[in-house]
Amino acid sequence: MKAEILCVGTELLLGQVLNTNSQFLSIQLNDLGYDVYRQIVVGDNASRLEQNIKESLARVDVLIMTGGLGPTKDDLTKETVAHAIGEKLVLDLKSAKRLKNYFIDKREAFNENKKQSYFPKSAVILPNDMGTAPGALIFWNNKKILILPGPPKEMETMFLKYAKALLAYSQGEFYSEKIWIAGMGEWEISKKLNESGLWNLKNPTVATYIDHKGLYIRITSKMETQQKAEEEVKKISHKIQKNFGLNFVGINEEDLITKTGHLLMKENCTISFAESVTGGMMASKLVGVSGISKVFKESYIVYSDEVKIKNLNVSKHTLKKYSAVSREVCQEMLQGLKEKSDADYCVATTGYAQEGEKSSGLVYIGVYNGKTIHIEEKKYKGNRHQVRIQATMDGVNLLRKKLLEDVSRETN
Ligand code: ATP
Repeated sequence: MKAEILCVGTELLLGQVLNTNSQFLSIQLNDLGYDVYRQIVVGDNASRLEQNIKESLARVDVLIMTGGLGPTKDDLTKETVAHAIGEKLVLDLKSAKRLKNYFIDKREAFNENKKQSYFPKSAVILPNDMGTAPGALIFWNNKKILILPGPPKEMETMFLKYAKALLAYSQGEFYSEKIWIAGMGEWEISKKLNESGLWNLKNPTVATYIDHKGLYIRITSKMETQQKAEEEVKKISHKIQKNFGLNFVGINEEDLITKTGHLLMKENCTISFAESVTGGMMASKLVGVSGISKVFKESYIVYSDEVKIKNLNVSKHTLKKYSAVSREVCQEMLQGLKEKSDADYCVATTGYAQEGEKSSGLVYIGVYNGKTIHIEEKKYKGNRHQVRIQATMDGVNLLRKKLLEDVSRETN
């Protein structure tokens, strides 16, 4: 197994402090049977740090980091690791409680140090018996990231007392899989997992995550061999895929947008969009899928009533009677788009995203396959961007589901 050590601290680069942490860790890692490939030092600079983290993670199985866990703004190790692996920092209640006890009678000091209780969501927290900054072990994409404090006494104690056993114990092999889910909230997913006895498992572990591509469940297993770990993960993965039915989108690289684009290409179905509230976001997302030009016909941003009338033949009467944000207008947008583009699938959105207004969040999303029109009414919460993003993802999901239904009807 390959490892790299990444020490963070401008004082190390300036030569003010001798990097004894690297020496200590190299000795320990070699004892454990790891091949240490590199020792790196980076200053307190987020972008250089992130670049080094990503480069190391692309090369090795285990990345060990020290330093930058303190309470100040230039202590940015955890924030940067979280950003690099696409996770959020969440408050670890146990660490916060411990810190509160440490600073008993010193409320201000506790508040100043509270940052030290936040960790990437999937981290296993390692206590700091010699100071205030806990460390963490993170399992990510079959790799491990160990985060330790900078002060040698704290780092060495934490490593020997907590981390070493975990690294030795985890000399087994990891395998993990992402399962993308659409059309459900995170709480609904965990409820469903819980009901099917797939929550709180020990090995494999199952957890839910959100990133800019959507919502996913991650299954991770550690066994003596990678093959065994993969077998265990696949067993759970198949159960989840079956349980989530049409809400299951794809695995690993097959997030909602990618999967929908691939489906359109596989079935050779052309697509056009008429977007009001989403303002081109659906089209822009799909254009990001490589090869999509094979099926992507055209896309219109039809924001004003005037343009809806002129470009899509929406009737003035319908707009006046039902307003631009209505099922009726969405239907006429779809019919107008079908006439104009003759795509196999037409998708349209119309809605309100004006913050502070009573009807903000009301959105109609429709899909037309040339035979039937399906329109959904949505009531989103959140700011302008959040409403538009939710409508975009739901629009693409509606298209994906319609496509799957049509394909399964044809094959039956
Ligand atoms: P703290 O919470 O104490 O601020 P930290 O995890 O943020 O801890 P740093 O601020 O990066 O750690 O470093 C604190 C001190 O630890 C440094 O000033 C230096 O004296 C020592 N130190 C940091 N990294 C190393 C290293 N690689 N080798 C030796 N000493 C180090």
